[in-house]
Amino acid sequence: MLFGLLMLTGLFFAAKPQYVYAARTITIVIDPGHGGVSEENDDSHSGCRYHGLEEKNVNLITAKAMYDELCKYGNVDVYLTRDRDVELSLQQRVEYAQQVGADVLISVHYNASENHNFFGSEIFTSAYGQCYATGHSLAEKIMDEWVSEGSIPKDIKTRLGKKGDYYGLIRRATASDIPAIILEHGYLDNDRDYLRINNEMAWRRLGVLDATGVAKYYGLEKDTFKEEIGPEEGIEAPSDPVRPDDTEPEGVRLEIDNYSSNKGDVEFTLYAYDDESKLMYYGFEQGDVDKDTVFAELELWDGANGKQKGVYHLQPGYSGKLTAKVYNVYQLDSLSNTVELAANEEEPDDEEDNALKEEEARSDGEDTMFLDEISEEEEDWIIGGQLPAVDTSAVANAIDKNTESKVKNSYTMLLIAGLTGAVVITVSIVIGVSAAIERKRKNKKRSGSSKDVFDWAEEYDKD
Ligand SMILES: [Zn+2]
Repeated sequence: MLFGLLMLTGLFFAAKPQYVYAARTITIVIDPGHGGVSEENDDSHSGCRYHGLEEKNVNLITAKAMYDELCKYGNVDVYLTRDRDVELSLQQRVEYAQQVGADVLISVHYNASENHNFFGSEIFTSAYGQCYATGHSLAEKIMDEWVSEGSIPKDIKTRLGKKGDYYGLIRRATASDIPAIILEHGYLDNDRDYLRINNEMAWRRLGVLDATGVAKYYGLEKDTFKEEIGPEEGIEAPSDPVRPDDTEPEGVRLEIDNYSSNKGDVEFTLYAYDDESKLMYYGFEQGDVDKDTVFAELELWDGANGKQKGVYHLQPGYSGKLTAKVYNVYQLDSLSNTVELAANEEEPDDEEDNALKEEEARSDGEDTMFLDEISEEEEDWIIGGQLPAVDTSAVANAIDKNTESKVKNSYTMLLIAGLTGAVVITVSIVIGVSAAIERKRKNKKRSGSSKDVFDWAEEYDKD
């Protein structure tokens, strides 16, 4: 009887083409990733850890906000695999989704990368059939919501392993015909993302956006039970698995348009293309590099037609090699050609002096680039976290006093202008020098880099 009624409503509304389902209730299972107490040498229960945060807790906040928001809509039943800090295996999460009759399983995560240089938000789906089609279409709606509020899109992807879908959760759900997606909301260990997602309000907001994306996909309305809901007709189920890109970007070429060595500004054009996926990042490194060199600071590739223009800032006076690296959204990378930058020395004496110092450094058996060197004294105050005090108050007082004593002649005005100029110059020098030192420190840190944070997307297949 009920079945017949559903059939009838289905036929009745079949005239409206935008939705493929008749009136029904959608069951959404939200899965806050990770949970439980981490064992020694195994962070899989915590997820990624950075800035004193444990991913499992952040996931839970976002997932709960998503749950609360989705509950405001009609035509939907919502479940959480966990609502507190408990340990759950991937199998348990998928079994729970099966038990409650999930139409879709959505796993909530945040990201981190080994070298802390990646950023952006990505979504993983199954590579197979209807699970791909549903997962990908739903992921597009969620990604749209994220991007509308400032997230940097890193694409919707599949990932394959030896047993099929790489991620255990997706693989197990797909085996039960439940489309599952993994939401990676951004990198907690990279400021490009972190500065936007470093507080509870932001984590909740992302949960609301997740829910909004789901609601849009299924055509849900708040406080309204609709006669018919979605999803809208999306992509067709592919007959073959949708494979991730497994080749690096091609044709990576670095051209220097202009180098102002006294400022250290390199105007560049970078060329690259990738037929299978989008380009995502680019970065520069000085000196000798190879395929394994970590490019510590990456920029977002936003150039059109395989061409990225920009200005890269080096320490003023830099002479030496510069190489670029370009990544696609699958984090596959290619090096560019290496260019030699030459500083324009104004004083011939300096050049001689430089050559002499370079010779000395070489004879010491060090392959350090002396132009990159900073005096020990300068370095000490940076490493101690201290900038040298610039007594701006004295100057300001002097200006105040001068102002109070009623400025009557141009000499006083000149003095003020002079003092203000001095402050500006001093501050500029301090900023410039500290930026150079900071770069140097990063170089040092890099050479001794340790695997203190794992990419949990990588590790997520453990059980
Ligand atoms: Zn995770």
